[in-house]
Amino acid sequence: MRDADLPRSMPPPARPVGDGAREAGRGWPSLCPACDRWSRGARVCADCRRHLAAPVPRCLACALPLAAHPVTCNGASDPGALASVRAAVDYAFPWDILVRRFKSVGGLSLAAPLADLMTDPACIPPCPGTTLVVPVPAAASRLAERGYHPAWELARRVARALGLDATPQTLVRRIDRAQTGARSADRFANMRAAFAASPGARATVSGRPVLLVDDVMTTGATLHAAARQLRQSGAARVDALVLARTPAPAGTVGTVDTVTRPD
Ligand SMILES: [Zn+2]
Ligand SMILES: [Zn+2]
Repeated sequence: MRDADLPRSMPPPARPVGDGAREAGRGWPSLCPACDRWSRGARVCADCRRHLAAPVPRCLACALPLAAHPVTCNGASDPGALASVRAAVDYAFPWDILVRRFKSVGGLSLAAPLADLMTDPACIPPCPGTTLVVPVPAAASRLAERGYHPAWELARRVARALGLDATPQTLVRRIDRAQTGARSADRFANMRAAFAASPGARATVSGRPVLLVDDVMTTGATLHAAARQLRQSGAARVDALVLARTPAPAGTVGTVDTVTRPD
């Protein structure tokens, strides 16, 4: 942002105070995408982080908040492929709206503030040992439509913030099938052959702990399918990190998806 772009009423940037080292060095004001107010330093303002992205303990198998967790977690429907899943926020207001905007044509500017939430240590427990970040691949038709790959835009920013390697070229998506409204079991069946390894994937991931990044987790079918392919390509371990986790209605955890999301 140039000085000329700032309103005259906005005072010059000051040294950030109290919000930690993450925001140090980002003293320029920016518009918070959640409330449209000027934020000093952080892209999502401190008020929105506190009230709309308050950290909650989440299950590492299914990423649902532990407070609303079923007695038996069926989040790990494909044990062995995906070691853990972390989510920054629920797929609910305002993040659902922002994710839809991010995944619409022209939404690329939201990548930075959304990726910020995914590396906020207050929201996300650490994932020790990871050295490589990869995105869940998008279908070629979606790439052509948007002109960018949302999960990669998040993944490369997460990697940069965490000081890790990143590559978009380990997996390719073979199936571009809408999953909206599908039952969990159907989603897992649909996704079973959805991904293939790219040429050179084995050389890239072999023996490495990999962090798999996507924007939204609904049932986990997509993450598990991608993780299985990464493991087959030699990844030592696959953990997942998503921006938002779709909440499940009481009594239907992991069995039915009632919230629509853009694939
Ligand atoms: Zn805000
Ligand atoms: Zn769980």
